[in-house]
Amino acid sequence: MTLIVGVRYLIASGGFALATRIRHPGLYAGLDKQMLREIRWSLYSAAIYGVPAGIVAWGWHNRGWTRIYADIHAMPIWYIPVSVFAYLFAHDTWFYWTHRWMHVPRWFRIAHAVHHASRPPTAWAAMSFHPIEALTGAIVIPALVFILPIHIGALGFVLAVMTVMGVTNHMGWEVFPRFIWDGPLGRWLITASHHQRHHERYGCNYGLYFRFWDRLCRTDDGLGSFQRRAGPTVSAAAGGGADRGGGADRRGGTVRPFAANGSDR
Ligand SMILES: [Zn+2]
Ligand SMILES: [Zn+2]
Repeated sequence: MTLIVGVRYLIASGGFALATRIRHPGLYAGLDKQMLREIRWSLYSAAIYGVPAGIVAWGWHNRGWTRIYADIHAMPIWYIPVSVFAYLFAHDTWFYWTHRWMHVPRWFRIAHAVHHASRPPTAWAAMSFHPIEALTGAIVIPALVFILPIHIGALGFVLAVMTVMGVTNHMGWEVFPRFIWDGPLGRWLITASHHQRHHERYGCNYGLYFRFWDRLCRTDDGLGSFQRRAGPTVSAAAGGGADRGGGADRRGGTVRPFAANGSDR
């Protein structure tokens, strides 16, 4: 499983890194050392992710553990999209609260500084986590399959969404069409411009897939702008996209030091 997770990471991040070279040449200029670090931490994370996933896959196959089902008619058809949404929402909820916890300064230094060392993040940062953070991420889907029934195909879809969003949210530009992130849907969905702002300002935009918890808990600070301090402006947001939800002032790509705002707020 570790091998599968590692290869999946290399293919997904490598693919989107290649797309970045084609679409926005020079965006990752000068970040070679950072990208090597991101790949190293991500491969450590893949090793950690592989353990609970491997145990669950073995238990499902050999012992009938878990509530994963293969017969499409074992549950009503309408349950398939419902289960996909339930998994994504549960994962998002877990991610939001553990992420906020990791922004408490003491835990930030221990468990989350590795991830924020990517300034700005690249497509390779998708799994660039300290082992403690990797562990919090690795257990969530393996735990859910014991609680919520899901068709094996729907589970594959959830894992694909997890992989694609993990990579594209760190890529430094928007791969999705503008109507997704800059329209009514974008008020609730998280894409790269939302997570970019988390990497700019730290104390906001903690969510993974949905802006629900950020909006409810008033930690939503709108969309980032992808400006590099000493590089070309990549205008996926074509001027930054509207700053919605938080109403805070815009500071473009300014990177504020952790000491000033690493704490939760
Ligand atoms: Zn991130
Ligand atoms: Zn963070």
